[in-house]
Amino acid sequence: MNKKYLLLLLLAFLVMNLQAQDQEKAILATFHSISSNDMLIDASVLSSAKFGGRLSGSPGYLAVAGWVADQLRQAKVKPGLSDSTYFQYFPNAYTEVHTPGSITLLAGKSNKRKEYHFPDDFYPGSNSASGSVSGEVVYVGFGISAPELGYDDYTNIDVKGKILLMETGIPYSANDSMQLKWEKYSYHRYKFQHARELGALGLLYVSKIANPNTSYLKGFVYAHVGEPVAEDLFAETGKKYAETHASITKSVKPNSFPLHKKVKITASTSYFPESRSCNVIAMVEGSDPKLKEEAIIVGAHLDAVGHPGCLFPGALDNGSGSVDILAAAKALAASSVKPDRTIIFVFFGGEECGLYGSKKMVETPVWPKEKVVCMINLDMVGNGTGLQLANGKSYPEILKHFEDANAKYIHRDFGASTARVSYSRPRTDGAIFEKAGYKTLHLFTSGTVKIVYYHAPLDNTDGLTPEIMEDASKLLYLGLLGLANDKAILPNSGRISAP
Ligand SMILES: [Zn+2]
Repeated sequence: MNKKYLLLLLLAFLVMNLQAQDQEKAILATFHSISSNDMLIDASVLSSAKFGGRLSGSPGYLAVAGWVADQLRQAKVKPGLSDSTYFQYFPNAYTEVHTPGSITLLAGKSNKRKEYHFPDDFYPGSNSASGSVSGEVVYVGFGISAPELGYDDYTNIDVKGKILLMETGIPYSANDSMQLKWEKYSYHRYKFQHARELGALGLLYVSKIANPNTSYLKGFVYAHVGEPVAEDLFAETGKKYAETHASITKSVKPNSFPLHKKVKITASTSYFPESRSCNVIAMVEGSDPKLKEEAIIVGAHLDAVGHPGCLFPGALDNGSGSVDILAAAKALAASSVKPDRTIIFVFFGGEECGLYGSKKMVETPVWPKEKVVCMINLDMVGNGTGLQLANGKSYPEILKHFEDANAKYIHRDFGASTARVSYSRPRTDGAIFEKAGYKTLHLFTSGTVKIVYYHAPLDNTDGLTPEIMEDASKLLYLGLLGLANDKAILPNSGRISAP
């Protein structure tokens, strides 16, 4: 080798090195632009009264979808729909709850009238009919009639004209193939419809969380009560509520009986059956002529539970995840280092109503499924000290980019889990993608430091740790960039299959 050639080689090496250094500098500049301060401001906007608790289908939700689209447009994150818009619409009936309503114990054996209080004792039903019902209360366990499973909570119990006290969920808890046979009975909508068909007037649902994932049924008034109210209604029956509930789940045998008390439930609502809602979808286009045809999908649900009786701000669930992916999208669009593959950001609507938005997106994909590398979902990622990529261990080629980013720049406790087959009904947008055959991962926090107020009026920004949101977003930015530029990755291969 002559001297001239050696010198040229050295020069080329130096230039490459300088380019790599410049690139790292540019990446770090963007990385440091992600700020917990800005993210907390965005979370406050999402959680504010002007969006009314972001109930999917309501004017408040459609307004917040517009706000997110404006943010994306300003940050030059492109529309994700083929018609150059950000909005993917779907039907979404909703119910506006005007007041907390009331629950009154009219008479027990000792004939004491008693008012229960919002929000300590109960929340109004998110899809309750308007009006009032009163009647004898009957405890009906899980409210399930499953003859093929030898289980019926309504055997020898007349519920016509009665108010039911009912559990959510199913009495069977093992994660095995038997669970599949119980799945259809686990839906609130099944339970409501069935109770109604048997002639029940109304319902006290033992699960004090606001929940729009139910049905509006004409004349059917219901509310969510906490366990103390259930225990109160069990008084003088010789049984304890907590023990009765536990014994049904332990034995998987019904135990229904009248509580010998009369209750009145009132609600003030308006039902909007013809409404629609939307996903907000945006993308940072890939820069490699070939790899840009492959995409990574990152999602978080934007909707929350509205204002049943008062504002339920939905800051952690899921203002946090929405803000995390918004900040990552802005960073990727602003970065001078472009991803080779395309990255799609989706803010789902209708999650709380029954995963409507994710179902819409897998039924009407904006990107060919076989060209999708993976889907990463964020739900409640704003409270903690560590980060966790669920299912990551099953996809080491994906995990490594996030692990590396954390080890090099973020230094949080970082964990990953193995994908497991779930036999119960899907409970997250990620589960819908998983079921549809996408390689799916979930970013979570670990080391929760603040009290979680799930579907409650206190789910406000005080319950967030903005520092972990900043780091979740930084992790997404670096991890997504690494993954998008990894030539060795194959789209959507080697997925853990759903049952
Ligand atoms: Zn959620």
